[in-house]
Amino acid sequence: NDLASLLDISVNEVISVCMSLGMFVSINQRLDAEAITIIADEFGYEVEFTKSDEEEAEVEEEDAPEDLESRAPIVTIMGHVDHGKTSLLDYIRSSKVTSDEAGGITQHIGAYDVMTDNGDKIAFLDTPGHEAFTAMRARGAKITDVAIIVIAADDNIMPQTKEAINHAQVAGVPMIFAINKIDKPNANPNKIKEELANMNLLVEDWGGKYQSQEISAKTGQGVDELLEKVLLEAEILELQANPEKNAVGTVVEASLDKGRGYVSTVMIQAGTLKIGDIMLAGQHFGRVKAMFDHTGKKVTEAGPSTPVQVLGLNGAPQAGDILKVYDTEREAREIATSREQINREQSMRTKKHITLDEIGRRLAIGSFKELNIIIKGDVDGSVEALSDSLLKLSKDEVSVNIIHKGVGQISESDVLLASASDAIIVGFQVRPSTSAKRLAEQEEIEIRHYSIIYDAINQIKDAIEGMLEPEY
Ligand code: GDP
Repeated sequence: NDLASLLDISVNEVISVCMSLGMFVSINQRLDAEAITIIADEFGYEVEFTKSDEEEAEVEEEDAPEDLESRAPIVTIMGHVDHGKTSLLDYIRSSKVTSDEAGGITQHIGAYDVMTDNGDKIAFLDTPGHEAFTAMRARGAKITDVAIIVIAADDNIMPQTKEAINHAQVAGVPMIFAINKIDKPNANPNKIKEELANMNLLVEDWGGKYQSQEISAKTGQGVDELLEKVLLEAEILELQANPEKNAVGTVVEASLDKGRGYVSTVMIQAGTLKIGDIMLAGQHFGRVKAMFDHTGKKVTEAGPSTPVQVLGLNGAPQAGDILKVYDTEREAREIATSREQINREQSMRTKKHITLDEIGRRLAIGSFKELNIIIKGDVDGSVEALSDSLLKLSKDEVSVNIIHKGVGQISESDVLLASASDAIIVGFQVRPSTSAKRLAEQEEIEIRHYSIIYDAINQIKDAIEGMLEPEY
C-alpha cells in the first residue's frame, strides 16, 4: 500500500508484479529491498534506500532452518461488547498464572503469557477488542497468530462480532469461536452455530473447518479445552523463531511513568532481548535498563513470544512499532534520526488514501482497478440496498468491493479499517463519532455522507466512470 502510493499506482499493480515474481503478498505486507527495487523499476522508478528502509528490509531476513525453534502462539481475543472478552482474559490470567510467580499482584501491561496444564505456553494480547488489533495492523504490525472470537450464547452475532470476524479474515489470522456464557440458563450455543453457518462459517462439529468451544468465562468451564484448541491451531501453523539472534518484537503499549521514565510493553517475536541491549523502536532508542514480566517480576532476558515491560527508550513508541536490537548505539541513533526526518516528510506529503475525486486522476493514469468501500447506515434495509446497488456498479475495468458494512455510527474502527485497506467510507443517514472524525482527518480517509440512496449510487457511479466533477 505504501509503495503503491509512493509510485502513484494502484495496490493491485504492485500485487500483480509481486505475483509475477512468485510472491503472494497482502496489502499491508512489508516488501524486501530486492522486491521494492524490481517493482519500482517496472514502473520506471529508481530506488535509493535510506538506512531505515534497509533496516526495515532486514527484518524479513530469513533464518537458517537449523536455527529455528518452535515458539508459543500469540493470541488476541475479540468480540462484541459485553460478550465476555475481559472476563475470559481475566479468568485465563488468574487460573493459569501460578501464584508464586505472581506474588499476589497482577499487572495489566497489555500482554501476558500462561502455561497450560500440559506445560505449553500461550501468549495473550491483553487489549481486548479489535480496535487495538486494527490499529496495529494499519501500522503494518503482524503480531497475532490466532484470534479467539468470543460470542455470548445468550445473545446473537452482533455488529462487533461481525467486525471482529471481518478484521481477522482480512488479516488472514485463523479464528476460533469461543461460545461464552453457557452457564446461563438461556444460553443457546446451537443458535450461535447456526448464525455462523448462515455467514458461511461452518464450525467443526457441524462438519466445517472452524474450531469452536463452548465456554463459561465465569465458571471456567471449557476454557482448558479452548486453550487446547489454540495449541492445535498453533501446531498447524508451525510457528517458529530463532531465539539466538538480536531481538525483534512489536510494541504493544507505551507510557511515561513518573518514577521510571518511558515504559514500553513489547511482545518479543524473534531473538532474545537482554539487559544492556541497544534497542530502537519507531524513532526512539536506548539501552535496555530493566525488564519486567507481566507479574512485575524483574527478568534479565526475554525470548520469542514473551511479553516484557522494557525500560530505557528515550521516548514512547507507538503501539505497532517494531522494536529491534542493534550492535552499536551509533547505528540505532542514526536510524532514529532518519526516521524522524522521514516521518516529518511523509506527514507533509499529499493525500495517500483514495477519495472519489482522486479516482478520476488515477483512472487517467490507468492505475485504478478497485474501489474499496465501507458502508455505515441507520437501518439495515438501507445498508443492504446501498451495498447491493454499489456492488452492481462493478465493471470490467473497475471492481467495487464492499469490505465492511453495518448499522450504526461511523466508528474509529471503521476509519482504521479504511486506512488499512485504502477504502472510502459511505455514511447513509449517519455521522462519524468525534474521535472517528478526528482520526479520519489524521489518516486522510474520505467519508461521504448521503441521505438519498440514489445520490450515493450516482456519485460513485460517476466517479468510477471518471466523470465526477471535482468539488471545490
Ligand atoms: P467484554 O465487554 O466483552 O469485555 O465483556 P465482559 O468480560 O466485561 O463481560 C460482560 C458481562 O458479562 C460481565 O457482567 C460479566 O460478568 C458477564 N460474563 C462474562 N462471561 C460470562 C459467563 O461466562 N457467564 C456469565 N454468567 N456471565 C458472564
